[in-house]
Amino acid sequence: MDHFLYKGGILHAEDVPLPEIAAAVGTPAYVYSAATLLRHYRLFDEALAPLPHLVCYAVKAASNVAILKLLGDAGAGMDVVSEGEYRRARAAGVPGDRIVFSGVGKTRAEMRHVLEGGVRQINLESEPEMRLLSEVATSLGVEVPVTVRVNPDVDARTHEKIATGRSDNKFGIPISKARAVYAEIAALPGLRVVGIDVHIGSQLTDLEPFRLAYRKVADLTETLRADGHTIERLDLGGGLGIPYARSNLAPPLPSDYGALIAEEVGHLGCEIEIEPGRLIAGNAGILMASTVFVKEGEGRDFLIVDAAMNDLIRPAMYGAHHDIVPVREAAPGAEMRPFDIVGPVCESGDTFAKGRDMVPLSEGELIAFRSAGAYGAVMASEYNSRPLVPEVLVQGDQYAVIRPRPTFDEMISRDTIPQWLHDA
Ligand SMILES: *Cc1c(COP(=O)(O)O)cnc(C)c1O
Repeated sequence: MDHFLYKGGILHAEDVPLPEIAAAVGTPAYVYSAATLLRHYRLFDEALAPLPHLVCYAVKAASNVAILKLLGDAGAGMDVVSEGEYRRARAAGVPGDRIVFSGVGKTRAEMRHVLEGGVRQINLESEPEMRLLSEVATSLGVEVPVTVRVNPDVDARTHEKIATGRSDNKFGIPISKARAVYAEIAALPGLRVVGIDVHIGSQLTDLEPFRLAYRKVADLTETLRADGHTIERLDLGGGLGIPYARSNLAPPLPSDYGALIAEEVGHLGCEIEIEPGRLIAGNAGILMASTVFVKEGEGRDFLIVDAAMNDLIRPAMYGAHHDIVPVREAAPGAEMRPFDIVGPVCESGDTFAKGRDMVPLSEGELIAFRSAGAYGAVMASEYNSRPLVPEVLVQGDQYAVIRPRPTFDEMISRDTIPQWLHDA
């Protein structure tokens, strides 16, 4: 459920008509609903209510500081994968003891930064990383709580670019090596084992892979405890999928997911952490665009819009589907016809949908890409020198620009011409 609904024939974000936002900030623009973000966070929080837990929002899904503040103020922890994300979470007022640092390639500088600033735990992904963290922590005279991300070798049955729990990908250590790795950590100064971490992939629309992975984590908990390690926290990752097409069957609910967690690991007495990103932010944001031209082609018609792959790369990168709807609701019974919906970037990959049934639109009309809140704005670039797409947050009947569109001058003035070219 989200808060983007037609009222009086006009698509609204909560109580704000989208044309009002388009008039103020132009298009393309991302628009988020605060009520939807909070609702999704609370669904997870309630789903885990029977167990001690912390829902750590995966910052990489949508990392605007205003979104982080909204969720952080509601009690969310944060899962970060870079110093930049850590700094964003802190800028949003989230305390270090609610921030988990994940990722396969943390650098010495990043480790030092989060250790100095305060961190809830660091999820380790390799042996060289353990040794480096031990060295950095010791040099600062601190002891850092750690987990090891284990790779349970389960098939998440999702897109290959976002599956992370198979033994042949770069994430975590093979679960079969876990005992040896935990023994090595226990002997390293500056590290304090607190638990186990697992994350098997993103956009999972079936709970079974989670069940298989969590069952392996539960077994490993018993084994590691028998070896003398303290396992008091289980970080179970993110990955719950969302319905990108309205016509599809609904994927599992956070409540089903919470019940599964209680069944598989509830008996262990651990504090549970989860790291959802997509399910919190995905349906809480849309990308609003305008049609530029309707171009009649041979055998197919094109709807050329002012958003492009640099603003929303998911269709080009993952072949992802986004529902695309007119902001002015189609008249009941209006005739649809198929369009290829494309952006202006000079690549055939800049195609949002092929043969998509749409009501005929004229030039300059507003459309909305639904379910664009996660992995949308964060993956935007200025390819083709298109200024970075702005972001707007709506709450009730108010809205605010939470990242303005740079002017052309701002975009160009970041480049500098070396002196030796001036001299030439
Ligand atoms: C990407 C990622 C997440 C979030 O995944 P979603 O599918 O957005 O819920 C959580 N944890 C880790 C370690 C990740 O890499």
